[in-house]
Amino acid sequence: EQRWSLKGMTALVTGGTRGIGYAIVEELTAFGAIVHTCSRNETELNERIQEWKSKGLKVSGSACDLKIRAERQKLMETVCSEFDGKLNILVNNAGTTIPKEATEFTMEDFSTIMTTNFESAYHLSQLAYPLLKASGNGNIIFISSVTGVIAVPLCSIYASTKGAMNQLTKNLACEWGKDNIRVNAVAPWIIRTSLIDSIEKDPRVLEHASRLIARTPIPRPGEPNEVSSVVAFLCLPAASYITGQVICIDGGYSVTGF
Ligand code: NDP
Repeated sequence: EQRWSLKGMTALVTGGTRGIGYAIVEELTAFGAIVHTCSRNETELNERIQEWKSKGLKVSGSACDLKIRAERQKLMETVCSEFDGKLNILVNNAGTTIPKEATEFTMEDFSTIMTTNFESAYHLSQLAYPLLKASGNGNIIFISSVTGVIAVPLCSIYASTKGAMNQLTKNLACEWGKDNIRVNAVAPWIIRTSLIDSIEKDPRVLEHASRLIARTPIPRPGEPNEVSSVVAFLCLPAASYITGQVICIDGGYSVTGF
């Protein structure tokens, strides 16, 4: 049944070597998609590609730094030639944060977080537009965050990039609906990944995270595959009338008043 399959569809998932991006690569291929991914660490990327190859999954990859405009252009050229000018799915997943108070952030921090999370996702969406349109059935998924919906400590710049992403989801959905391109975002809460492990080295983050998890209706962190399942669903033909939405995957945190 085609409604519940991504068979033959092509996808670009940024940051697929670890965490949420890794789970998305596996989930989309499990539904039958052919995936291209990217990351900065070429050794890790090649290890992952070999691993997927040995499992019989169709995944290719490019080493690139998405902070650099020319590297984003080169990435999309590679995707364009690999997939014959047609792309069904763009998942803007790569992202980063630096845990600090607003008074502590430097200009470099601002630029790193803004460029990695927002500028690159905006630009990749622009670059992907002709390919998504040519496919006749295009999807963009932004990996946003609950921190772009409600305020959480130590992430004012990160949160701003995610808030911007949530609004961009709505604007692009309205501009590109006529081209058969749907645009949605998922907003995860605290998910067990290498990003969380690295920022929890800051004791302030660890303290806040345990307090916030204790207040979550489902009182545990989420797993990457609890995000990837929703991403896959949004890309399926079964979700063909859903566009412009930001879906929280948060164990209920964003709705609790308890
Ligand atoms: P990880 O740090 O575990 O993985 C990030 C991935 O992105 C890696 O593959 C990394 O590879 C790649 N990446 C990072 N920067 C760049 C860059 N400049 N160019 C190319 N690739 C890059 O992060 P998560 O899986 O936790 O996060 C994925 C997304 O989910 C992010 O957008 C994050 O904001 C969002 N999110 C995460 C939550 C969480 O609790 N974990 C909660 C809510 C949202 P490499 O370092 O080699 O480049």
